[in-house]
Amino acid sequence: MTAFQDKTVLVLGGSRGIGAAIVRRFVSDGAKVTFTFSGSREAAEKLAAETGSIAIMTDSGDRDAVIKTVRESGPLDVLVVNAGFAVFGDALEQDPDAIDRLFRVNIHAPYHASVEAARQMRDGGRIIVIGSVNGDRMPVPGMASYALSKSALQGMARGLARDFGPRGITINIVQPGPIDTDANPQHGPMRDLMHSFMAIKRHGRPEEVAGMVAWLAGPEAGFVTGAMHTIDGAFGA
Ligand code: NDP
Repeated sequence: MTAFQDKTVLVLGGSRGIGAAIVRRFVSDGAKVTFTFSGSREAAEKLAAETGSIAIMTDSGDRDAVIKTVRESGPLDVLVVNAGFAVFGDALEQDPDAIDRLFRVNIHAPYHASVEAARQMRDGGRIIVIGSVNGDRMPVPGMASYALSKSALQGMARGLARDFGPRGITINIVQPGPIDTDANPQHGPMRDLMHSFMAIKRHGRPEEVAGMVAWLAGPEAGFVTGAMHTIDGAFGA
């Protein structure tokens, strides 16, 4: 028996980076995994073929599409909401439509997906949302909308933990610091600045985040809910 033998797992935003590592981890632990993608069809199809998981095109900016995908993937044992992005730049110059799209993907989709998952989830189910240490600490300018979106997840988890707790369904936020992905490559221009804030001066690996997600989804974490779990090399300490 593997840890998630025959468990049903949905990962929103699984084609690349942290999401792809989460897909691989649950597959290797025996789960039946479905994941969504929006822009990276080729990467999604390759990952699905390699792992035997199912890839579904669903834009997390489209609330009704997200709800439909969650509903049709259920009943779930585990929902992971990973899809998210940042818009960098001067808040006074930014396109409000781009900021509203960020809020739809980073805030609205996690909320509606979590509620829809809980509607049909088995008792004892697990919801894990990928936030960011920037929900706690934002040491640079130009990322206020991202920080807002990730701190909003904290209130969501605290509240929904109360709503879902009576059924043993847990909801937790995983808050990574710098992780080596396309969105934040370890050799990118911000490397030295980011590492200057950290006790462990390297980017984390997507697999390290996937390990924390797997623990939160597993049987040892049934008493852990409404909580933030930071994995950041002490970026936020
Ligand atoms: P990447 O940009 O490398 O990957 C993002 C993943 O999310 C891709 O699979 C992408 O799929 C998917 N995604 C993005 N937008 C959408 C959308 N609208 N609909 C469906 N899927 C979408 O990012 P990371 O792996 O670095 O980040 C993953 C999560 O971790 C995000 O929530 C991010 O905020 C968070 N995070 C990352 C950190 C880092 O340093 N890397 C630090 C802290 C938090 P596709 O390409 O197919 O659209």
